[in-house]
Amino acid sequence: MKTEKVAKKFCVENGKHFKLKDFDPADTAHWKSKEHAAEALQDGIQRMAELQDKLYAQDSWAVLLIFQAMDAAGKDGIIKHVMSGVNPQGCQVYSFKAPSDLELQHDFLWRTTRDLPERGHIGIFNRSYYEEVLVVRVHPEILQSQKTPRQLCGKNIWEERFEDIRSFERHMARSGTVIRKFFLNVSKKEQKKRFLERLEEPEKNWKFSASDIRERKYWDDYQKAYEEMIGNTATERAPWYVVPADNKWFTRLVVSSVIVETLEALQLGYPKVDEAKKKELEAAKAVLVAKK
Ligand code: ATP
Ligand code: MG
Repeated sequence: MKTEKVAKKFCVENGKHFKLKDFDPADTAHWKSKEHAAEALQDGIQRMAELQDKLYAQDSWAVLLIFQAMDAAGKDGIIKHVMSGVNPQGCQVYSFKAPSDLELQHDFLWRTTRDLPERGHIGIFNRSYYEEVLVVRVHPEILQSQKTPRQLCGKNIWEERFEDIRSFERHMARSGTVIRKFFLNVSKKEQKKRFLERLEEPEKNWKFSASDIRERKYWDDYQKAYEEMIGNTATERAPWYVVPADNKWFTRLVVSSVIVETLEALQLGYPKVDEAKKKELEAAKAVLVAKK
């Protein structure tokens, strides 16, 4: 069964009228179950592998995949799923936590810029510069503790950050980095269920952190911040995908079909071998065949 339409359904390219409530975290489109989607999931992995090989060989485009979500929405799981289909040599994952002292000495785009993918590579950001309009917005005291001059932290700061992010992403797109951004949209109810599993099942205990429960209290503030963020930074060049995250198998299906579609649109191919190179290959073959 085709997965093409599934990517389109959750894509936001123009945030003007974006409302988070229009997206159901439990949506599974026309897919009934994990079993129903098993073949498509396997197919996605296979196609990703083939396309990444060409991306790497061509060494021209770069791909940046950004993952943002509330805790327990499944960021780690989805990254593991994507990684299971690609050659690790051409794919790097970076996780961004609270900034270090050194990072705070710089502008808010500095630390992530250092880790942008090189040509031919896929870069995965587990959290990103978008935290600067999410956690920092929900907790204004974080902004206070940063070192940006006070005069520059006025009421327009979020608008300004959105504008800077849009400009930055436009610049990257124009230079050949294809950006796709994923918001894993989990419901509050499902988050509670997953937190309880982390508390009750010994093999999941390590995943639990007390700060997760603290942040849950700010659920509505976060939803508002996410809505504003997507509304202001969804563009044709760097769209957001609001991926239903209450069913992990469906999250995987959507994310892998977005990646496959993105890579397919680049019309990747292996570099053409010119006449001189052909001769070189033939000569090398002749040497190998002639010698024992
Ligand atoms: P896990 O799945 O292991 O919980 P995680 O991505 O939630 O992964 P944590 O160490 O739990 O990792 O959380 C990282 C924390 O760092 C998050 O609370 C996030 O909001 C915070 N963080 C990331 N970027 C910034 C930033 N620029 N300023 C302040 N806090 C940030
Ligand atoms: Mg966490």
